[in-house]
Amino acid sequence: MQSLGSLVRVRHINCGTFRARIGGPALVSHVLVCEFEHGLVLVDSGLGTDDVAHATARLGAGFRLLLPALDSAETALDQLDRLGWTANDVTDVVLTHLDLDHAGGAADFPSATVHTTAVELKSAQTRSGIPAKVRYRPTHLAAIEHRSAGYVECSGELFGMAGHQLHDSVWMIPMPGHTAGHSVVAIRDPEHGWLLHAGDAFHHRRAVTGQRSGRSISMAEALFADDLKLLRTNQRRLADLSTTPGGPRVFCAHDPIQFRALIT
Ligand SMILES: [Zn+2]
Repeated sequence: MQSLGSLVRVRHINCGTFRARIGGPALVSHVLVCEFEHGLVLVDSGLGTDDVAHATARLGAGFRLLLPALDSAETALDQLDRLGWTANDVTDVVLTHLDLDHAGGAADFPSATVHTTAVELKSAQTRSGIPAKVRYRPTHLAAIEHRSAGYVECSGELFGMAGHQLHDSVWMIPMPGHTAGHSVVAIRDPEHGWLLHAGDAFHHRRAVTGQRSGRSISMAEALFADDLKLLRTNQRRLADLSTTPGGPRVFCAHDPIQFRALIT
């Protein structure tokens, strides 16, 4: 990824609205578009064009319980097109994890290398148990498996956490709990300093402000967690990190208030 040159700009886009109100307004699927001198890197990818067009077949019937907007204008491919980019401009997609609402859009960027952990890749390949069969979709995996880098050994440390440095400005830091191979992704925004996209390590901004999340949020987190104890431990780490002077701005994938604060 170093051949991309310097990071020039970071944009925040929503690649999948969910109208299921888990304790507040409609949820978003927060994706970062990182514009480097020589290409684009996405952090997470939301839903893809085929997911939106063939939702039940691609995502399973149960997915509709989340009341997804399924709007093709929300896909990363469509939004990048409106910004004057093409699919081939995306050289890399860094995924916090391979859940259907994070990995689906990667299929729209066939020339991009997909970055995830080896553990997450294995979980999506084996799909062991009913929760795994719901969250990991074979069509998503088939689109990225041959071009995925699954990391094992951490290469260094950022903010006291062991991680994989993909570029001077891009780190993938393993943070299991929601899924076994879940990561958070740190980006050094040249305009605003370090950002930390925490994926689904938490689902509501209160998790990193030291307040208790509402019951519906806690129940949803427990329902989707691979390891709830680890999820809670890591949420406390993120809460500490978000209040550390000079630390990154920490946000999750689905909180609409955090998303709006970053696009304005
Ligand atoms: Zn999610």
